[in-house]
Amino acid sequence: MKPAAFDYAVPRTVPEAVDALGNSSGKAQVLAGGQSLLLEMHLERITPDLVVDINRIAVLDEMRVHDKRVQVGALVRHREFESPEAVAGPLGTLFSLAVVNIAHPPIRTRGTMVGSFAWAHPASEWCAIAMAMDADIQMAGPGGAREVAARDYFQGPYKTARQPGELITSVSFPLLSEETGVGFIEHRRTHFCFAQVAVSATLTVRDGVIEKARIGLANCADRPLRAHAAEQALHGAEIGPPMDGYRVPTEHPFARAGKIAAEQDAAPVAEPYADLEYRRHAISVVVARTLCQAANDQRSRVRQLEGDSR
Ligand SMILES: Cc1cc2nc3c(=O)[nH]c(=O)nc-3n(C[C@H](O)[C@H](O)[C@H](O)COP(=O)(O)OP(=O)(O)OC[C@H]3O[C@@H](n4cnc5c(N)ncnc54)[C@H](O)[C@@H]3O)c2cc1C
Repeated sequence: MKPAAFDYAVPRTVPEAVDALGNSSGKAQVLAGGQSLLLEMHLERITPDLVVDINRIAVLDEMRVHDKRVQVGALVRHREFESPEAVAGPLGTLFSLAVVNIAHPPIRTRGTMVGSFAWAHPASEWCAIAMAMDADIQMAGPGGAREVAARDYFQGPYKTARQPGELITSVSFPLLSEETGVGFIEHRRTHFCFAQVAVSATLTVRDGVIEKARIGLANCADRPLRAHAAEQALHGAEIGPPMDGYRVPTEHPFARAGKIAAEQDAAPVAEPYADLEYRRHAISVVVARTLCQAANDQRSRVRQLEGDSR
């Protein structure tokens, strides 16, 4: 199908883009990578009267580090994060583990991280990481610039705190300390499908004891979640000896955290190929495995740091 007729604006600056959005009837859409928008327009599920193409706004291409945070501009493509070096330290590794789960290379070449925040699909990998990492979303609108914390930003499937006239200019994440272990595992029916469950985990460990855990869940509710109850259960627990993650004893802290995430933090609904019992089981297993991955990563980072200091 062809999209319905629409006007097209190509602003060169953020204020021009905000003006174009503000002057429209409220049915304008921003064109970033176009990997969600164009599909919806072709299916005529979205029929904008104006498309504001932001691809010529050079400043939105930038990724900057300041104040121990990385700020990702609205035109930075998914593909950039395939290299763990794109972002300093363990956060770069976490992004590189997550990004390969997003669709396939042509989509990652055009699609943007910030576009995923605007679209707010409950299965979005980036949005789950943003919840776990306490990311902030920066926006520019007719009333000026503002910043919203991820925990206040996501309001339901495709529903966010962004107002129709606002442009998201960037998203910022705190960088992780060098010895933080990271993990990201996704379970999906086929590679083409969105995640049935995806889990992001970071672990800060001192003398074998977990000081801080951050767990983000994708497609475990109507919006991305942070698994606060599971995190709480891990504080003060021992990580124990290395494990491959596939046979986590039920009494291990990671298995217990998985069960808590599935039963207390998540709010899944039944899907055509997965009833509620299956979905909760999948969540508990994937959380436990992702924590094992993060613990193994933490051990190898500490070994590396100790080797470097000799
Ligand atoms: C086959 C297929 C598989 C996919 N699989 C996955 C997957 O596994 N995981 C995943 O997360 N995504 C997946 N996607 C979606 C993909 O990641 C998109 O790139 C992403 O959702 C949107 O980014 P975009 O830059 O393409 O945005 P666009 O398509 O250009 O825009 C999407 C929406 O966001 C708005 N928007 C975009 N940027 C801004 C901005 N800066 N400010 C305000 N509004 C803005 C637009 O108005 C529009 O409503 C898939 C897409 C396809 C086609």
